[in-house]
Formats: sequence, structure tokens, C-alpha cells
Amino acid sequence: MLRLLFWIAVIAAAFWLWRRFNRPAAPKARPHDSEPAPMVRCAQCGIHVPRDKALPQGSQWFCSQAHLDQSER
Ligand SMILES: [Zn+2]
Repeated sequence: MLRLLFWIAVIAAAFWLWRRFNRPAAPKARPHDSEPAPMVRCAQCGIHVPRDKALPQGSQWFCSQAHLDQSER
């Protein structure tokens, strides 16, 4: 019985390795998005944030609503 379990484990491991080496291009988190997100600079604190997360105000960008509000004062 123990030998049978041993061989099942060996075959499962071999199968797992075979699949791993046959498919080196595993699906990644971002498959077709090779371009980095454009970064913009917060006009209030100067940090760089992805443009899709930044808040526009005229020609300026801000990292958060708080900094956008501070710039208006
Ligand atoms: Zn900021």
C-alpha cells in the first residue's frame, strides 16, 4: 500500500514537472499591458503618481483630493 502511494506521488510530481516545463509562458498578471502607465507629478507635493490615479485640475495633476483642495486655496 505504501509503495502504491509512493508511485502515485512520483507520477504526480513527474506530471507536474512535465506541465511546468511544457508551459514556460505561464499567464501573468498583466499579459498584454507591457507599456508602463504614464506618470504625472503632483503639483502640490511633487510625488509621481500614475495618471489614471491622479486628479486633473486645469493643466496640473494632483495625487489626492486633499492636495487638489490645498492648491485651490
Ligand atoms: Zn500630492
